[in-house]
Amino acid sequence: MGVDDYIWAMPKVELHLHLEGSIRPEILLELADRHGVELPVKSLEDVQRWYIFRDFDHFVQIYINIVKVLLNPDDFSLITYDLGRTLAAQNVRYAEVTWTPSLHVNKPGMSFEHLLDGINHGLDLARQAFGIDMRWIPDIARNLDAKIAVKLAKWISSPYAQANGVVALGLGGQEVGYPPELFEDAFTLARQNGLPGNPHAGEMMGPESIWGSLRNLQAVRIGHGVRAIEDPELVDYLVEHQVPIEVNPTSNLCLGVYPNYGAHPIKTLFDAGVLVTLNSDDPPMFNTTINDEYYHAYYDCGLSLDELETIALNAVKVTYLPDHQKAKMLTQFEAEYRHLRRVHGLNER
Ligand SMILES: [Zn+2]
Repeated sequence: MGVDDYIWAMPKVELHLHLEGSIRPEILLELADRHGVELPVKSLEDVQRWYIFRDFDHFVQIYINIVKVLLNPDDFSLITYDLGRTLAAQNVRYAEVTWTPSLHVNKPGMSFEHLLDGINHGLDLARQAFGIDMRWIPDIARNLDAKIAVKLAKWISSPYAQANGVVALGLGGQEVGYPPELFEDAFTLARQNGLPGNPHAGEMMGPESIWGSLRNLQAVRIGHGVRAIEDPELVDYLVEHQVPIEVNPTSNLCLGVYPNYGAHPIKTLFDAGVLVTLNSDDPPMFNTTINDEYYHAYYDCGLSLDELETIALNAVKVTYLPDHQKAKMLTQFEAEYRHLRRVHGLNER
């Protein structure tokens, strides 16, 4: 069908994606094998079944097993390369990917620099093989890193990190019980070093978490941000200041934030003028892909093809790339959308 093929072929940018949460079951098995790590399940079919989201505790269990098999920089090269392949196959041209340094840098021979070098080696290979490019948003895990947040921010915003693809400081992990205010010092330090703040907020917690991220962390982009819908004043603020939000509908459904796609506020936020982007979060664990998110947005959330294009172009506009690169990518994407619409027999906007 024209629309499906068109959505698949659209060049895209993805802004909210976790490197560890993007590992495919095949790669998890390969790494477990490489290191002789026992997983709770053995065969590929069992891992595929085990991977699918059941509840938050199960999700955490999978993450713990993923962390167990990521032991050296080569492992990170492999998963980064594989992510590049998966994204390029869906016509993602560029991604800003989150990973959590504190889960890995406590292992032998793994400094923050080793980790970053391993990831960049995988990116180099993916760039050569698939033409995709990526940048990094290392994050502080709220529930794990509260005491070492400033130290982490120092690594993440170091000149070495920024010269090697790090473009923002993230804040992930458990939102409930760990408000943004706790991490103000870390985000201030990063900002003083020229690194913008890109926290998760407004997913498991309501508007106050987004307000705190804006006021105390000076957030430049908000991961999720969908629960802004609960506070009209906050929606007005996001619109007025064009603060981008990184929306992940399937992730929100899995975690019980909304009961179904029809109840998801993406369309209402978009209609209000919020700068919405569309993303996949931890795709294999939520049984989704970036293209599936576009399909759901179109078929289940009520966004038109024109609106999807606007959302896809929004992502380009709010990347952390230099302005001239964004402008070039925008021109390229717009030209391709026009061409693809003709090819697929769809009316031009
Ligand atoms: Zn996330």
